[in-house]
Amino acid sequence: MTTASFEVKAYPEMWAELEMDVARFDKARQMLGEIYGKMFLGQSARPRAMAYFDTMISEIFGARIQEMRAAKQEGRPVVGTFCVYVPEEIVVAAGGICVGLCGGSQGSVPDAEKILPRNICPMVKSAYGFKAGRICPYFQVVDFVYGETTCDAKKKTWELLDRLVPTHVMEIPQMKNPRDRALWLAEVKDFKAKVEEVCKKRVSVDDLARAIGVINAKRRALQRLTALRAATPAPISGKDALLVEQIAFYDEPVRFAAQVNGLCDELEERVAAGKGVGPAGAPRVMVSGTPMALPNWKVHNLLETAGAVVVNEESCIGTRYFKDLIAEDATTLDDQLAALTDRYMQIDCSCFTPNNERVDQVLKEYRDSGAQGILHYSLQFCHTYNIEEIKIREACEREGIPYLAIESDYSPEDVGQLQTRIEAFLEQIRE
Ligand code: SF4
Ligand code: SF4
Repeated sequence: MTTASFEVKAYPEMWAELEMDVARFDKARQMLGEIYGKMFLGQSARPRAMAYFDTMISEIFGARIQEMRAAKQEGRPVVGTFCVYVPEEIVVAAGGICVGLCGGSQGSVPDAEKILPRNICPMVKSAYGFKAGRICPYFQVVDFVYGETTCDAKKKTWELLDRLVPTHVMEIPQMKNPRDRALWLAEVKDFKAKVEEVCKKRVSVDDLARAIGVINAKRRALQRLTALRAATPAPISGKDALLVEQIAFYDEPVRFAAQVNGLCDELEERVAAGKGVGPAGAPRVMVSGTPMALPNWKVHNLLETAGAVVVNEESCIGTRYFKDLIAEDATTLDDQLAALTDRYMQIDCSCFTPNNERVDQVLKEYRDSGAQGILHYSLQFCHTYNIEEIKIREACEREGIPYLAIESDYSPEDVGQLQTRIEAFLEQIRE
């Protein structure tokens, strides 16, 4: 595929069956294809194995939706989620499909702003707008969605989203004391009961063991990709690695893990041959903070266009999603759910207080990735990440790490200003 020939494939008949706003969505499809072609296919020295992930974008509104519809016909439900806290192992154990619904596009924000306040996080507005405007086939195909109580914008939006699609909510604890773990274990059990009710299937020990194995394998493949990016020169661009991390939220997990491992095989050869991407001596940057949902490639594109290479994402669409695995040695359902709970309690989202382990994790990933500077990224109006940024900044000052904090949304309005700040940041690293 070349920049000129790339397109996101159109499936207007299927979209009409899904009761979408087909005319409007088709324009968004074309725009996505143009942006993707320019941003991704024009990169030099791309790994050959990225061809699979290009196809996943080309078929993002087609073949993958067809697979989900086929699963529904077999009685397997499709569950939409918004947060890495929702335990996808339980959905997979029940035979269902889990798909991340976080919105990363400015295109659906005006639909949300017809009802939601303007001054809330763009991820929440984008996701809500996709459903309100009927411009996302994933939202149209899910049987129900699971939200959570991580932040105020999300938890209040679920009440409104429930009017458009059945929306259940998990209560996420805000601290990590024993009673918070007990609450979370109870929520996990309720989630399992709800999924079983919808799937009309009891999850057995074997079902859950198999699902834990499948999702652990997916997370291990992503860990392997992250470790390979520590090489100098970096064997893959940050944009391509971010894309793989984004596709993890909607691809079939077994196939996805095999493709990521295939990519890693190729990257190992590159590392052995000293072959990499980006200009020689490119500043190596780690990005930390709020998730970048598809198609939010804004900051990575600015950094890499300015000559840097991004080598790590400390984010929920990044290492926070895959750094921890579930122990696989439990032999009873109770023990499996306890192991699952323990793994999910390790997630260091800024919605927790205190959350000092995230500061330690950022410094660890900085060292492990061979980065030379940290860019902290907060979505606009995300209070928890914006405030926690102060502690990350202080840690970077203590450690002498070049540091830049930005707060942004999905609009192109601040691109010029961000470009200037990013260029100054890269100069600081080069000095
Ligand atoms: S940043 Fe927090 S709220 Fe957002 S997906 Fe991650 S864990 Fe969930
Ligand atoms: S980025 Fe922050 S404000 Fe936005 S949904 Fe996540 S936790 Fe909420």
